[in-house]
Amino acid sequence: MTQSSTYTQPEWLSEGWEHIWAPYTQMQTANFPLPVIDTKNTHITLEDGRTLIDGIASWWSSCHGYKHPHIMAEMHRQIDDFPHVMFAGLAHEPAYKLATRLTKIAPDGLSRVFFSDSGSVSVEVAMKMAVQYWINRKETRRHKFICFRNGYHGDTMGGMSLADKEVSMHRIFQHFTPKQYVLDIPNDEYSFAEFEEIIAGIAHTAAGLVMEPLVQGAGGMKFHSSDTVAEIFRICKKYDILFIADEVATGFGRTGTMFACEEAGITPDIMCLGKALTGGTTTLAATLATDEIFSNFLSDEMTAAFMHGPTFMANPLACAAANASLDLFEKEPRLEQVLSIESQLRDELRPCRTIERVKNIRVKGAIGVVQLNDATWEEMFSLRNKCIESGVWLRPFGDVVYLTPSFTIAPQDLSHLTGTIVDLIKKL
Ligand code: PMP
Repeated sequence: MTQSSTYTQPEWLSEGWEHIWAPYTQMQTANFPLPVIDTKNTHITLEDGRTLIDGIASWWSSCHGYKHPHIMAEMHRQIDDFPHVMFAGLAHEPAYKLATRLTKIAPDGLSRVFFSDSGSVSVEVAMKMAVQYWINRKETRRHKFICFRNGYHGDTMGGMSLADKEVSMHRIFQHFTPKQYVLDIPNDEYSFAEFEEIIAGIAHTAAGLVMEPLVQGAGGMKFHSSDTVAEIFRICKKYDILFIADEVATGFGRTGTMFACEEAGITPDIMCLGKALTGGTTTLAATLATDEIFSNFLSDEMTAAFMHGPTFMANPLACAAANASLDLFEKEPRLEQVLSIESQLRDELRPCRTIERVKNIRVKGAIGVVQLNDATWEEMFSLRNKCIESGVWLRPFGDVVYLTPSFTIAPQDLSHLTGTIVDLIKKL
């Protein structure tokens, strides 16, 4: 799909580009981003009239497709009532209802919800909660975190400290962020024995272990089994380490169950949610905690209280969107759609197996990954551009081309995405 030769860039783009600092972008060499004028279900309409099929649902978030009428209607209703009011000392129905509903669908025992405004902040909140939990219990040495190679937990200071220091884009900050224990995810009897030995030695200094259950996203789209998650959880419990599940990306059906922890049969002590919480419409995040965590903040002393409160915490507009998104999970067959996307991805990405440049293909729920051998940045950028020429919106990075489409994607659109990937990788 090519741009018409008579098309001229809108003025706001060239003018504004002089003032914008774009994400994950080398501004010296970057081209203009694509100007968008509309979105609908899994389609993005560009200013020049082209339409792209979105293969990544705006970074995993738009799980019901763009502009689902039910979410739009509920947001309109809330905007007319009141789009925002502060959350300290004031209460509103959208947030209180949402907290109740989240605790009903979350793994059993997660009974408290702390709202914030982005996935990264939900991780910061989880880290503060874990550290203060131990402080409140008078165990002041437990302030470090155990995390994993290829992990990614956001771009803020605490989240960056949990990232893999070798491969992560945050590695240049490794001397600036707090030092954590970054371990390999164990995957067999021997590595589990070794893992447990390390844990036994560091448990007395560890506030918690943070992991992305089942799928590590931005750190390389790596998968591990639900048994692995369950076994890591068991070891954490044995050594009295808080298990923090970062489900910012995996939450809300992406891996095939509502939450990845569900497949592992565990209730984490703390769980972080974001991205698809509002159906990808606006920014909201939540950190859920068990009664055991919460009860350790109850005291006659103010110092034991959790001192955190973002200005836009529990934004009513965002909470209304999140409630509407949960309605859709109840009323529409989202998890069935994830299963059928999974089987279509398995079938349609299979031809990649015979392509020499392909190292590995993996599919889990509505996530499809094709990993290449020795991909360069230049190749990945050129792939991004070729996808656009084929009417497809994808963001290959590192050595992976990945798909995380909306669950409402039409099978023929998904086939167009997978077909484009197979064709383009063949030509590498
Ligand atoms: N945790 C995980 C697992 C993520 O994938 C992300 C976002 N990619 C974050 C945290 C940070 O979320 P946000 O971008 O909303 O700050």
